[in-house]
Amino acid sequence: MSLNIEPLIKILDLEQKRGFNDSSVFGGLDRFLANWIAEFSTCINSPSKLKQFRKIFEQVKYRDLSVEKRAQWINQARKFLTEVKINQSGDKSQTGATKRKKINLIIPQAIDGPITNVKGISTNLAAKFEKLGVKTIRDLLYFFPHRHIDYSQQKQIKDLVIGEEQTIIANVWEARIELLGNRKSTVADIGDETGNMRVVWFNNPYLAKQLPPNSRIVISGKVSLFRGRPVFENPEWEPSEVEDLIHTGRIVPVYSLTSGMFPRQVRRIMKSAVEEWAPLLQDFLPEDIKKRCKLDDLTQAIKQAHYPDDQESKDRSRRRLAFDELFLLQLGVLNKKRSWQAGQPGIPFSIDLDLINKFILSLPFKLTVAQERVLKEITTDLAKPQAMSRLLQGDVGSGKTVIASIILLIAAANGFQGAMMAPTEILAEQHFKTLYDLFSKTGSGAEENPYIRVFTGLLNRPVKLALLTGSMPQLKKESLQEAIKRGEIDIVCGTHSLIQEDVIFSRLGLAVIDEQHRFGVEQRSALRQKGYNPHVLVMTATPIPRTLALTLYGDLDLSIIDELPPGRQIIKTRWLKSEERESAYQFIRKQVSSGHQAFIICPLIEESETIQAKAAKIEYERLSTEVFPDLKLGLLHGKLSSEEKDKVMQRFRNREFDILVATPVIEVGIDIPNATVMLVESAERFGLSQLHQFRGRVGRGTAQSYCILLADNPSEIGRQRLDIIEKVHNGFILAEEDLKLRGPGEFFGTRQSGLPDLRMAKLSDAQILEYARREAIRIFEKDPGLQKNEHSLLLQELIRIWPKVGEWS
Ligand code: ADP
Ligand code: MG
Repeated sequence: MSLNIEPLIKILDLEQKRGFNDSSVFGGLDRFLANWIAEFSTCINSPSKLKQFRKIFEQVKYRDLSVEKRAQWINQARKFLTEVKINQSGDKSQTGATKRKKINLIIPQAIDGPITNVKGISTNLAAKFEKLGVKTIRDLLYFFPHRHIDYSQQKQIKDLVIGEEQTIIANVWEARIELLGNRKSTVADIGDETGNMRVVWFNNPYLAKQLPPNSRIVISGKVSLFRGRPVFENPEWEPSEVEDLIHTGRIVPVYSLTSGMFPRQVRRIMKSAVEEWAPLLQDFLPEDIKKRCKLDDLTQAIKQAHYPDDQESKDRSRRRLAFDELFLLQLGVLNKKRSWQAGQPGIPFSIDLDLINKFILSLPFKLTVAQERVLKEITTDLAKPQAMSRLLQGDVGSGKTVIASIILLIAAANGFQGAMMAPTEILAEQHFKTLYDLFSKTGSGAEENPYIRVFTGLLNRPVKLALLTGSMPQLKKESLQEAIKRGEIDIVCGTHSLIQEDVIFSRLGLAVIDEQHRFGVEQRSALRQKGYNPHVLVMTATPIPRTLALTLYGDLDLSIIDELPPGRQIIKTRWLKSEERESAYQFIRKQVSSGHQAFIICPLIEESETIQAKAAKIEYERLSTEVFPDLKLGLLHGKLSSEEKDKVMQRFRNREFDILVATPVIEVGIDIPNATVMLVESAERFGLSQLHQFRGRVGRGTAQSYCILLADNPSEIGRQRLDIIEKVHNGFILAEEDLKLRGPGEFFGTRQSGLPDLRMAKLSDAQILEYARREAIRIFEKDPGLQKNEHSLLLQELIRIWPKVGEWS
């Protein structure tokens, strides 16, 4: 490994220029070196050099040296570094494959030092902060309060309003210890020009001593009524002569703490930490961006995030910090996209329009305008010499699978293999059947074995379609894997493990990843690691507003099917209280007697599939014996083997069951046109998108369909969600609503996806999102590797928050 030593050399030069006054780096050169040495010494691999290095760098106490000695030392250090540098660039074998890549460096700063360097933080307290994820001073500055209390409204005693948070300045007449309900408490009589009142601090006798008669104090808190008179109970207070109010008389931060931490203590520490250290933050946002987007300086924003002057400054601060998060996120994903495309050149497919048209004409329906547009976007990508990375969004039932089938055929026509991947085996099997059906419209298929179909008439050679599942017989599986490896299989359906496990393709040209509402980044890097560079299409039925999608999935291009095939009905949706369950059952009975079928989704007990399966089994027993003893019921849960699942689904499709009782495994993709009722138990526990997915399981045929949501005691938010899903049928609008109901930071599992945390940004920050994206693209076009000088701070910030994102050079 080599290390770029340029920054240290620059610092030494600056020191020289400034007359050796130890001002070239924040916190002093010694502190800087201490951080630097640890990293640097690992990069020296000659023992004699290491010895020399130690002598020069570890033993120096720059601060204690005279100016003369400082000059000497810098000379010596500079000489050493220059030699190392020459050696580094001369040593080709060592740098090897990464020869041209510059290693990105974070220049250590005092601000990245431990928080024990902050006034008032002991090792003991530091350990508590660490539990909250706060280790460095920088972490501390970004340790934002979860809310603020507004004590800025100063009142006089006569104007106090019962029940409100208010602030007064008053004289202490007397403070004493009293026994209140067996607890030693402090009671004070206070007053101002307009009147007198009492203050009580329960269970806190120590305060009495701190409040001598005639002292002036600021008191902030809620005023309550006691025996007809206003009283402050357990208010915040501080002496009124303090210049800088911390706990009272202003907008006061409230931090989430762990045990052993005290609000007053932490507020005091935060106040001085922010005052002292926030000015040392280097603002990584280029000036022009701040100007264009009207954003505060970083230091200002950090200060105001903790101790805002007023509501407006607080909002401005949040705006700046939310912008940072979204902007950096966007730069990160853009970089990912670039590194994805910068790999081996992709495979340009030739697009046989006759083939496509023949195929489309064979379908029993006309493509919607949206499907046609999307197909055009995708085929344009496929024809390019870079690998496609595209996200296809389309509501449940919008017809994404047809699009996938067409492009898989295009891959085959180009002599490449295609993979169609689904999150579950049951869906993989369904894809296999759907593709089989669709291909059979043009060609004619024959079964080689249950896992392989051979089509003639599609292309000018036989096309082999296969299904690879974990549960297929081992021998069949092995021989199928062999066939894939030899390139005899054109299209293979399977779960995501297709690429993660040991399946080897002979010439993979296209990967379609279905129902992926997470990133698909893992899947793509898995592909990469295997040395493939196929075109990738990620399909999802989870609609996300466009700007948000572009930010979160900015590494993917976006296609949207925003139209359902004609004649699709609105699925009548109603939520009922659990007491109305009987009427729901009667409704199901009526539908069944007119020849239809129903789903009943069992309560989501917890994540464990085993427990869910058990709960479903019990519910199934109950429904079969007590509620619908005369009807035929089936049971589907995640613990069944995929053959068993398949059998159940097959029988449901063949109408051997009237009702299918299922766990949420049914969520995505399953297609049963004769089913007209979807009943969801404990619907309040599911998110809007998930409910929408359930609802999408019915209404796939021509008959009017219904979605009944049973809810026990929904919370306020739960109730709002249920009201929304009753009225809103468009997945995109539902997604918007879902976003509005969610708080900040609750992104689509950004944590799991390896994305940086979003603390300030809200899902509904559409305008900030828009700005952040625009600026990220602008900067990325100008300076994709962020190698320009004016972007060096930005580069450092990115590497810091997102070290895994890839090489930024
Ligand atoms: P999803 O986008 O949810 O994966 P599918 O691809 O499974 O949707 O399509 C849902 C149903 O709609 C399928 O039965 C499919 O054959 C049908 N379909 C697809 N496109 C059209 C169209 N343009 N017109 C009519 N029906 C269509
Ligand atoms: Mg689908």
